[in-house]
Amino acid sequence: MLGGVQSATVAKFNKLSVRTVGDMLYFFPHRHNDFAHMKSVADLEIGKDQTVVVSVWEASEARLRSGRKATEAVVGDETGNLRVIWYNQPYLAQRLRPNTRVVLSGRIVVDYKGRRVFEAPEYEVVDQETDNLIHTGRLVPVYPLTAGLSARTARRLVKAAVDRYAPALPDFLPDAIREREALLPLPEAVRQAHYPDSMEGNDRARRRLAFDELFLMQIAVMGRKQQWQQEKGNPLPVNQDMLDAFLRALPFPLTNAQRRVLGDVLADMSRERPMSRLLQGDVGSGKTVVALAALLTALANGFQGALMAPTEVLAEQHFLTVRRLLGSSPRTEERDKLFVTYLDPWPRPIAVGLLTSASTKKQKQELGERVAAGAVQLLVGTHALIQEDVAFERLGLAVVDEQHRFGVEQRSALRQKGYNPHLLAMTATPIPRTLALTLYGDLDLSVIDEMPPGRKPVRTRAIGPDKREAAYRFIREQVSQGRQAFTICPLIEESEAIEAKAAVKEFQRLSVDVFPDLRLGLLHGRMSGKDKDDVMRRFREGELNILVSTAVVEVGIDVPNATVMLIEGADRFGLAQLHQFRGRVGRGEHASYCVLVSDSPSEEARERLAVMETTHDGFKLAEEDLRLRGPGEFFGTRQSGLPDLRMARLSDLPLLEMARKEAQRVFDADPRLTLAEHRLLKVEMARRMPGGAAEVS
Ligand code: ADP
Ligand code: MG
Repeated sequence: MLGGVQSATVAKFNKLSVRTVGDMLYFFPHRHNDFAHMKSVADLEIGKDQTVVVSVWEASEARLRSGRKATEAVVGDETGNLRVIWYNQPYLAQRLRPNTRVVLSGRIVVDYKGRRVFEAPEYEVVDQETDNLIHTGRLVPVYPLTAGLSARTARRLVKAAVDRYAPALPDFLPDAIREREALLPLPEAVRQAHYPDSMEGNDRARRRLAFDELFLMQIAVMGRKQQWQQEKGNPLPVNQDMLDAFLRALPFPLTNAQRRVLGDVLADMSRERPMSRLLQGDVGSGKTVVALAALLTALANGFQGALMAPTEVLAEQHFLTVRRLLGSSPRTEERDKLFVTYLDPWPRPIAVGLLTSASTKKQKQELGERVAAGAVQLLVGTHALIQEDVAFERLGLAVVDEQHRFGVEQRSALRQKGYNPHLLAMTATPIPRTLALTLYGDLDLSVIDEMPPGRKPVRTRAIGPDKREAAYRFIREQVSQGRQAFTICPLIEESEAIEAKAAVKEFQRLSVDVFPDLRLGLLHGRMSGKDKDDVMRRFREGELNILVSTAVVEVGIDVPNATVMLIEGADRFGLAQLHQFRGRVGRGEHASYCVLVSDSPSEEARERLAVMETTHDGFKLAEEDLRLRGPGEFFGTRQSGLPDLRMARLSDLPLLEMARKEAQRVFDADPRLTLAEHRLLKVEMARRMPGGAAEVS
């Protein structure tokens, strides 16, 4: 569709999900180089975003004490010199030969020795064309690139597309809304998003385009909610005897918050309209038992239940928890990934199965047959549960754990597995309310706002690399008292394979140099399901003292004997994410500790981590994170479930409110978008929100 462009270049663009002219118009730069306001090195101010043109004096590969690779360079202009550091890009040292001229754009920080450092700036080598651009002194777009696609080619092609096609873009937004909210017309917004006349022009363009994203998303969410509310499901009233028996057998009483939320859930389930509820509760607040009580209620009504978790490790753990809590009957039979038990006063056997992608084909098939025949009542698993060949006989309740890890489509795929089953989505990500209404507006909300009694806050320390040895001594001490520890390897965004390799190295270093006398295990995303299960089992059973892991243990893992969580490269994670890691300890009776190791030279990074030392409230941390880093970072780059928001910032609450209000107005007047003035809007919905639009129309 990109006519007149070389096929090799088309392939590069395709890699960036740009396939049509329309995609190219929406292929926005992630920022602009302000060639009109360039600084000299001497004028650079600490903490602000700035652009300089400098010469590279020297650049070399460096290795930080964490083992992370980096490139360090010294650059300068006629006013002075400056140190630059880039993490994880050792190849840069090759590219930046002495005397190369580069444009650097980013932020200056102060390192612990008080020197100014340009930390991980964006860079562009100055060639003929950038040179011209610099001299025209304007705002120049900087596009995301991929190997083999140069900044220059990207600029040239996008510019041609914008000049030729943007003026003719039909504006799908009704005039009334555009005028009321003072939004730019679409052609103008697209042009200014690429080649703005000024920063203000660019801001107005962003505002219009961000509005579009939020507005369309809201209409889709409203359509989903309305559609769902019209469906009829299966009323599943409480079986009080069975519920009481289950609660009595628990090793603890429910907290008031758990009781209240369970009440919400059971009331929903007893109605004919299918439940659609989001259960929010901080890490360790005890969501699993609430889910289990609800699942048993479905079973007591003769229906099946499903419990879906985002990782194999977590699915396996849930399976074991269910077995521990339900499988204590003397008549319990164990089979591989399946157990059958009797729950008084329920007269029939209950079979619980585990299905993950680690299951063999034969296991999958056997289990699948039993599920289809209704002979397995409760199925626990990963997204393997929503694959096509899994069919339930009578699914009454589907629970999605750590729901922010799944997309809307996956949630609805699980829902398709039965005749309108009730749906309970759970999350430990504490999303501020306005945001929750926007993202999950199709769900009702319940919050567990109370921790089980006796939990002590996890004592948290942020340290530099110089204190690492002391942290190791501390781990050793805890292990000698019979406790266990996690160490998390730095996040490496390039690829899971590179991350796995780094984790193996870290594991070897710790096993050989630091803790040769202890038993260590390794967990990373590239291991087979069986190996993961195996190492988790050994850690859970106390056979391993220390688990060296990548971020895969972030969600859900419950090993109460573990008391130390040491996180390397802590500055690279979001606060909300660090809070999740920290939630892996402090789950038992022992005092627990979290150590955040960071080798970022910046004071800012240290301060951000210091917030963790004093704040233990997930909501506050999430808000702080949202404010400091924006939602992309907040939700973590690997998490799905977030619509494709390129321009909108979920932290922009006023714009969110406005988009909701306008969407509501359109939706109330014309839910199916059949009016003439909504014709283009309907087309745009279908283009951008394939799932949502189908449900609206
Ligand atoms: P999360 O909400 O993070 O999923 P879990 O359901 O894994 O939390 O529960 C965390 C731990 O707290 C588990 O070990 C669980 O057995 C325990 N727990 C849950 N509810 C209570 C309670 N009311 N009193 C004491 N411990 C509880
Ligand atoms: Mg959980």
